[in-house]
Amino acid sequence: MILDSQTIDKLIRAGRIAKEVRELAIKYAKPGMKLLDLAEYVEKKIIELGGAPAFPVNISINEVAAHYTPVIDDELIIPEGSVVKIDIGVHIDGYIADTAATVSFNPAYDGLLEATQVALEKALEAVKPGIPVNRIGKIICETIESMGYKPIRNLSGHNIDHYMIHGGKSIPNYYDILTRWKLGDGVYAIEPFATTGIGLVREGSIITIYSLIKHKKTRMTLQEKRLFDKIWNERRTLPFTERWYAGLFKSKEGLRNTLASMLRKKIIYGYPVLIERSNGIVAQFEHTFIINGSDIIITTR
Ligand code: MN
Ligand code: MN
Repeated sequence: MILDSQTIDKLIRAGRIAKEVRELAIKYAKPGMKLLDLAEYVEKKIIELGGAPAFPVNISINEVAAHYTPVIDDELIIPEGSVVKIDIGVHIDGYIADTAATVSFNPAYDGLLEATQVALEKALEAVKPGIPVNRIGKIICETIESMGYKPIRNLSGHNIDHYMIHGGKSIPNYYDILTRWKLGDGVYAIEPFATTGIGLVREGSIITIYSLIKHKKTRMTLQEKRLFDKIWNERRTLPFTERWYAGLFKSKEGLRNTLASMLRKKIIYGYPVLIERSNGIVAQFEHTFIINGSDIIITTR
């Protein structure tokens, strides 16, 4: 299946916005800044530039690898000497760009960032139609290990579908013998994570990012249905944050109680924060690309 030109155009526009906002965010982030201010800055820029967030911006500090977005009234601050991952998603009519970069406020981790970035570049150089994704994983792993760090094995790149950030297939960050598929026409993200730790993440107890599970209206209270319909109409099953829906409720407690109830009823899914198991410092870089026939377009570079 070759992608049509309208689809390609939207993917490219989403990619251009994601790249621009990523670069702005990296410059904007500073120790002492509230994560909430950085998140609002990023998401506002995405909209100003004509896109919509494909997911709440993930701002993950030090040993937190992914899936933290600031909550309403979040007081967390970027610590002095920290390593900050900023993972940005942009969509235009459901056509998604997914990109991430890391900024280090401690020179001791410059090598960690370098290893991750070089791994991503080498992986992208190898991308071509028909390449087994395992070969990409092998390149990522060997690059990171040769520079003295470990890839995170239970995080991976992925294919991207319309309104779906994770399309169901993984591009591993190591040589995984169980992953056998090859790249063909489609949209993909490659995202090496490298760490000073053992190279595995665990799920933390905090959830700040959610998505609707499907469009079902059974067993919902009036409040739940109102929230569900609003999110479904805006973004289908793309992930969301409580920050975007505070206006629908009298208090943040009301919103949080509703989300907790919807989680229990499995109307929404929660993405726990992912933390390096040995509390190693984590870096991440990510690009999205399209394969279309013999063309390869890196949309976020
Ligand atoms: Mn991402
Ligand atoms: Mn991704």
